[in-house]
Amino acid sequence: MLTNAPKGTKDILPNQVYKWHYIENAFREACAAYVFKEIRTPVFEHTELFSRGVGDTTDIVEKQMYTFEDYGKRSITLKPEGTAPVVRAFVEHKLYADIQPSKMYYIIPCFRYEKPQSGRLREFHQFGIEIFGTDNMIADAEVIGFAADFLNNLGIRDLELRINSIGCPKCRETYRTTLIDFLRDKYDSLCETCKGRYDKNPMRILDCKSPICQELVNGAPYMLDHLCDECKEAFNDLKNNLDAMEIEYVIDPGIVRGLDYYTKTAFEFVSDKIGAQGTVCGGGRYDHLIEQIGGPPIPGVGFGLGMERLLLLLESSENTIPEPDNLDVFIAVMGERAKRFGLKLMRDLRNHGIKTEMDSLGRNIKGQFKYADRLRSKYSIIIGDNELEQNIVSIKNMETSEQKQVPIPNIIKEIIG
Ligand code: ATP
Ligand code: MG
Repeated sequence: MLTNAPKGTKDILPNQVYKWHYIENAFREACAAYVFKEIRTPVFEHTELFSRGVGDTTDIVEKQMYTFEDYGKRSITLKPEGTAPVVRAFVEHKLYADIQPSKMYYIIPCFRYEKPQSGRLREFHQFGIEIFGTDNMIADAEVIGFAADFLNNLGIRDLELRINSIGCPKCRETYRTTLIDFLRDKYDSLCETCKGRYDKNPMRILDCKSPICQELVNGAPYMLDHLCDECKEAFNDLKNNLDAMEIEYVIDPGIVRGLDYYTKTAFEFVSDKIGAQGTVCGGGRYDHLIEQIGGPPIPGVGFGLGMERLLLLLESSENTIPEPDNLDVFIAVMGERAKRFGLKLMRDLRNHGIKTEMDSLGRNIKGQFKYADRLRSKYSIIIGDNELEQNIVSIKNMETSEQKQVPIPNIIKEIIG
């Protein structure tokens, strides 16, 4: 128990962490090119932010939140998603008073109480971007294009981009009646959660994971067929923009998304390479969220991309993440004076950005060489008390086994090349 991580969490070990650095760097670079700035918000927020922001008939709020009361009797929740906190910060700091639109990104851990399986964890990580302050479909196309390019530039192919429109509160109202009519005679067979959603938010039932409910909603009317003129036009606009950017997509009228706040655009990038949890990235537009959380009526659009699923995908593709060089220089020392000299040399090399190690377990010289091999060092510098007398050291290229004597003042030049 004591030496097991909690169910649904994963350690990222030192010999694996380079993969995370790789995708994080790629994401930060993409954000720079697409001109998004990072925003960092707390790991926990007031529970109400999510119940109001994410929606209290969603899976997340109904059964997945890590909520607790702190010692001050406040209800606190560990972030289950990234958008509501960004909205909260945007409103709190009045970022809408700056030049609009606001383009922000985040890299965060998320917490959801789920049934752990491949690609589904209780602590997972997300990249996300948001554009606040424009309802122009250029922004939607930009957000979708960002995800498409980011994934493509990582070498991930065979992803399908699926887009849909889930309308606005106006057209959803008429659609809601149609959907309720369709579901009426199926009500008794719905799962308990969906029975509760029937009146409050029947569209949620379309997104239920229970196989029985999924079967029941087969043939249900689609929001896409009930859009008002404004939403229809927006969807056409989006498609035209994507066509102009040469981004391929399929229209999937079945996409609902797991969060209540979406309006108009909804999209997903889906793979069939990583099993049941195939949605790597999901997002859409949320024109009323900022207002709902207490801010001015400002529209927004964004996506969340699951890092663990992205890594699963990368591992299933032929594109291997380059493992960084482990070590540039190993300093092997023989004798007390050599050791003291080596300590100072190690410091100098490290201050030049050269990855340098030396033995700290008192290994003999043979042991030190073995250790250097295991560390996959590019060079070894061999220092003996006698050589020091002559102001020289030996530098061995571990790949070619070539060894030469180098005057002490030339060491760094020799290594840097
Ligand atoms: P799903 O339908 O798979 O539960 P979701 O609709 O709940 O996904 P979002 O809230 O849109 O997912 O989150 C955005 C992305 O975060 C998902 O596309 C996925 O890649 C990732 N994600 C969501 N939940 C988890 C989880 N429990 N473990 C790992 N990754 C997750
Ligand atoms: Mg989910």
